[in-house]
Formats: sequence, structure tokens, C-alpha cells
Amino acid sequence: MSEAGPRVESNTHTDETIKSFQQLRLRRMLWGFTAQLLTIFIVVALFSYGMLPSWVVGVYLSVTLLASSSFLILLKTNINLRFKDPSMTAGQILVPLLPSVFVMFFVTDPQARTAFMLTATSGLVFGMFALTRAGMLILSILIAGAYLLLLVALTLLAPQRINWQVESVMVFSYFAVLVTISYLTSFIAGLRRKLREQNHRLEQLVIRDPLTELPNRRCLMERLTHEMSRFERRRPESSSLCISMLDVDHFKNINDSLGHDVGDTVLRRISDTLTGTLRKGDFVGRFGGEEFVVILPESTLAAAEQSVLRLQEAVAALNIPELPPGQRVTVSQGLTRYFPGERIEQTLKRADEALYRAKAAGRDCIIVVDPDDEDPFQS
Ligand code: GH3
Ligand code: MG
Ligand code: MG
Repeated sequence: MSEAGPRVESNTHTDETIKSFQQLRLRRMLWGFTAQLLTIFIVVALFSYGMLPSWVVGVYLSVTLLASSSFLILLKTNINLRFKDPSMTAGQILVPLLPSVFVMFFVTDPQARTAFMLTATSGLVFGMFALTRAGMLILSILIAGAYLLLLVALTLLAPQRINWQVESVMVFSYFAVLVTISYLTSFIAGLRRKLREQNHRLEQLVIRDPLTELPNRRCLMERLTHEMSRFERRRPESSSLCISMLDVDHFKNINDSLGHDVGDTVLRRISDTLTGTLRKGDFVGRFGGEEFVVILPESTLAAAEQSVLRLQEAVAALNIPELPPGQRVTVSQGLTRYFPGERIEQTLKRADEALYRAKAAGRDCIIVVDPDDEDPFQS
């Protein structure tokens, strides 16, 4: 299968896209760490006021550091890409909470505990980057549950550190804040999702040909330029960047004798066939009218010829019910390769000239032009 069809935009710059997403995730992670610094600052302050024993501070700092560096390592080694949510949003919100709950157990004053609890849960707003409403709800319930467990533990193990009158007011206001944050956050997450979908639709409109749904000329030219720079960066010895210009033979006759609608159907069937026949990594787009351009990166001219010959045969074998029985559709192709240093327009022009010769040679054939050769040969 080729990269034409619905996969075109995501595969056009795959490596670059992944890289920029990873950078974005790293930036968010660093914001998260900055927010945690605030919490660390409060822990240190509580310690200096004598409200926390030093070993608790030690445990808190070690666990926090360990958790943060683990997330950083997962991101830096790209292991996060294997997760369902590569941003690790839920984990990054929940994990730092564990050492915080631990600290809260030991804080001697219930009021200081509540203030600490609010800053410790401020990470919840990061949920707007990835979580759904249900995800936010589950997360809030987990956080609320953790706090209730903390209260149970305090009641059983250290009742002197709990003042139930203060606590009931605190619990109520804390839960109210949790509900508000998770509602707003999931609302923003929903907006972000809608915006992304809309962007995707717009992008498709800009890069796709509406009739065949193939990448359009603009997209083809971008892809060609991209492949050319990739080739120039590496200049591989053993392969070339090959390009075939493909044109439907006597297409005007189909329009004239059977109508424009049948012509459209034939174009769509040909497009589907080209897409379905090409190998992964190859690319086809509609150049205009009944002309298509096939890009075969990392292929020798001889291998590219075999690939485009398959296209030739697949189109000729098409059974199109709208055509009179026995009428076949054929295509002609001009195949060449990019000559290092030239402009991509020059490569296209050479392919077009080769196509012209294929037409002159009687159609339903491929003319290959190697820029190195004096005498192009016909297959
Ligand atoms: P050749 O073998 O030399 O390529 O002959 P041809 O008839 O295919 O070429 P010509 O350039 O004379 O005609 C191409 C026709 O393609 C003319 C144009 O009306 C038709 N065409 C271009 N775009 C579309 C389209 O989107 N739908 C339909 N149905 N026809 C189209
Ligand atoms: Mg034609
Ligand atoms: Mg034409």
C-alpha cells in the first residue's frame, strides 16, 4: 500500500511530528516540575517552622525526585510513545500526590495540611491536555479517596492531629474546589479536542483533491521538496529518488462518449488502484486533470520501473462496469530520477518529456529517462 489515502498527512513528516510532540510534552513536564518546586518550598517551610520531622522531608524529597526523574527518563527514551496516552497525564498528576499525602499525615497542624493539600493538587489542571470528562472524574475521585484515607489513618493512628470541626469545613471546601477544577479542566480538554478535529478537517481540505481524495498538487510539490531535501542530506550511493508522471490514455474519449460522470468514476477507480498497488513508502498524488505523479523514494531506477509497471498492469486489469464490455483503460508513464543538485521542477519536466514520448510511442507504455544516459530507452 502506498501512503496516499487517509494516511498522507500523518506520514508526510512522521519523524518531525513525533519530535515536536515530544518537545511539547517535555515543556509541559517542566512546567509540572516548576509547580512541584512550589510544593517542595512549602514542605521545607513547614519543616523550618517545626511542623514536620526531618526524615519525613527526606522521604518526600527522595520520592518526588525519583518520580520526576522516572517520568523524564520515560520521555527521553521515547518509552512513553508505547503508552495509550504518551503524555502520561494521569500518572503525572497522581504519582506526585502520593508523597504529598504522606507529608500531610505528618503535618502537625490541620490548617497547614489543608493549605498544602491545595497546592499539591494544583497539578490537576494539567488534565486539560489529555483527559476526557470521565478521566477527570475518575482522577478527582481517586484524589478525594486518597484524602479520605488520610483522614481515616489520622483518626486511627494520630487523633491528636485532627480537629473534626475544622476538618469538616476543609473537606467540604476542598471537594468543592476539586469538582470545579475537574469540570473546567474537562471542558477545556473538550474544546481542545474539537479544535484538533477541526484543524484536521481543514488540513484535509487543503491537501486533498476532492474527487479522488488523493493528495493534490500542492501536497505533491511539498512532498517532492521534502523528499528532495532528504535525499540531498543523505545522498545514498545505492538508490535514487524516482518520479513517474502518469497520464490516462485517450481520456477525453471516455468523457465525450460516456459523459463526464463516467469520466469521474474512471478517475476514482484509477486513483484507488494506484493507491492500493503502490508499496509502503511510495506516494501518489493527482497532479491535475487525468495526470498523476508517483514518487518512489529510495529506489533504483530499475526497481522503480518494476513498481510503476505494476501500476500499469493493475490499471489495465481494472473492470469498470460503467464502461462498455471489453473496453480497457490504459495509462502512459514517463519515469526518471532526481539528478543531485537540480531543481525538482527540472526532474518533473524530464518526467513530463518522457511521458510525452510514451504517448508518441503509441501509449500504454513506460519511457524511462536516466539523466546520466545519452539515449533514454523504452520498456
Ligand atoms: P492522451 O492519451 O493524449 O492523454 O489523450 P487524452 O484524451 O487523455 O488527453 P487530453 O488532454 O486531450 O484530455 C484530457 C481530458 O481530461 C480533458 C478534460 O476534460 C478531462 N478531465 C480533466 N479533469 C477531469 C475531471 O476531473 N473529470 C473528468 N471527467 N474529466 C476530466
Ligand atoms: Mg490523457
Ligand atoms: Mg493529460
